[in-house]
Amino acid sequence: MIVGLTGGIGSGKTTVANLFKQFDIPIYIADIEAKQLMNTSHRIRTKIVALFGDDAYKEDGLNRAFIAEKIFNDKHALEQMNAIVHPEVEAHFKAWYAAQKSPYVIKEAAIIFEHNKDNHYDKIITVIADVDQRIERVMKRDQSSAEKIKSIINNQLSDIDKVKRSDFVILNNDLETLQSQVEQIHQSLLKLVKPTSK
Ligand code: ATP
Repeated sequence: MIVGLTGGIGSGKTTVANLFKQFDIPIYIADIEAKQLMNTSHRIRTKIVALFGDDAYKEDGLNRAFIAEKIFNDKHALEQMNAIVHPEVEAHFKAWYAAQKSPYVIKEAAIIFEHNKDNHYDKIITVIADVDQRIERVMKRDQSSAEKIKSIINNQLSDIDKVKRSDFVILNNDLETLQSQVEQIHQSLLKLVKPTSK
């Protein structure tokens, strides 16, 4: 079973994903894998260079600052970039998933509903938290401004819409209650796994 783990910026997706590790559930973090693949995949490199030119790469990998400038406020360029990277991450995930032996896996992805990818998952967990807390956490983590984080939040699908389309919801306003929420969902997921599946 493939379980999607999503939520807005700073909601606590990675924090929650780490809690599933205690049950030996394999975790695939799409953002991290995408970053890695952009540095290592020849196919991606060739296509990105064809799109943005040689400056798209430095000696040690993707030229992030250059790319950020190219796709900032250019929706079409961002879509072209996604069209190159997303299928490669998808193929990489498939190969990874085929090698797993656990009852289910967790795939953390910030964007699931926004790209109508719900049907790629058997179940979806959404992590939510108060907006003020999310802003505070991300400001602390990334040293970014409240305005920038707010604008990202405003560009993401609202929590209300995500919750409507989710199988499980985790409220991450404090760390104390996370453990029991994760445990309950883990037990529910185990019950859902058919005896015939992996
Ligand atoms: P992003 O979408 O930005 O990658 P995320 O949803 O994966 O974020 P995390 O990285 O898990 O969120 O959490 C954001 C920050 O908030 C991290 O520094 C994390 O340690 C902290 N954090 C997460 N949950 C809590 C909590 N309940 N209380 C305090 N800090 C928290």
